[in-house]
Amino acid sequence: MAQLIDGKKISQEIKDELRDKVASLQQQGIEGALAVIQVGNDPASSVYVRNKKRACEYIGIRSESYELPEETTEEELLALIETLNEDPKVNGILCQLPVPAHMDENKIIRTISPEKDVDGFHTQNVGALVVGQQGFVSCTPAGVIQLLKRSGIEIAGKNCVVVGRSNIVGKPMALLMLKENATVTICHSRTADLKAVCKQADILIVAVGKPKMITAEYVKEGATVIDVGIHRQEDGKLCGDVDFDQVEPVAGAITPVPGGVGPMTIAMLMNNCVEAMTR
Ligand code: NDP
Repeated sequence: MAQLIDGKKISQEIKDELRDKVASLQQQGIEGALAVIQVGNDPASSVYVRNKKRACEYIGIRSESYELPEETTEEELLALIETLNEDPKVNGILCQLPVPAHMDENKIIRTISPEKDVDGFHTQNVGALVVGQQGFVSCTPAGVIQLLKRSGIEIAGKNCVVVGRSNIVGKPMALLMLKENATVTICHSRTADLKAVCKQADILIVAVGKPKMITAEYVKEGATVIDVGIHRQEDGKLCGDVDFDQVEPVAGAITPVPGGVGPMTIAMLMNNCVEAMTR
């Protein structure tokens, strides 16, 4: 039976460590505040925003909520971000994505000060990751690294295959695995013979956005399988990009969905907020 990588437990450990860190920073007179902007009221976004605010409360930092109506103009949103950039009491800013179609997502990301970009989406932070300098790292891939390390899975020297090349998951994921000295292959929709490439992986990280696409034939016996995907099925249950029931007997270690990568994203967002406090 595969080792189950418990994201719920590991994310809790991280949040508890952060809570202690925040308490000691507060003793030194350093306070933290995260500004959370949501435009419109997409129900999924509202759930994410609520969970982020709850996590702030748990670790002991203040969250400021900006709930803007759907018809807010891009200029109004950018003006709010500029104000928050200048506010010395705010050390982290995030704008929940997606934003309404009349707004330019890239422009919004570019406007958030890189020093307050706790999502790690600003090109300055992405560039820092590419050249191995300090910066905020995208939360989901940073969470995957913590899952592997805290589960005792060795990365250095291993063959790692990342399926997916999005800016927020696949690309930063591959760069982080490279930083940890894995030999990394990135796959995407134009990869020829995806199965054969995946089967070479000691560590297979899947962020493809297709429910249960990765079946047992993609997985080498004993490989570590990290499933970033999250989908609501017709019966209301959640599933990932990996067919867990098929892959689990073949894998050496695997993340479940839910309870794997999902909880790590918010824990790493909190980690970035605490880092922003200490800078
Ligand atoms: P995107 O849709 O932005 O990217 C998907 C990637 O998968 C693309 O690079 C695409 O290739 C590739 N792809 C699509 N189809 C295939 C295929 N048949 N074969 C090989 N590659 C393929 O998704 P995200 O990266 O944003 O998210 C991926 C998954 O992770 C989603 O299920 C999402 O819900 C989940 N997610 C979970 C988070 C969490 O906190 N747990 C956070 C963020 C995302 P190409 O570039 O060629 O189009």
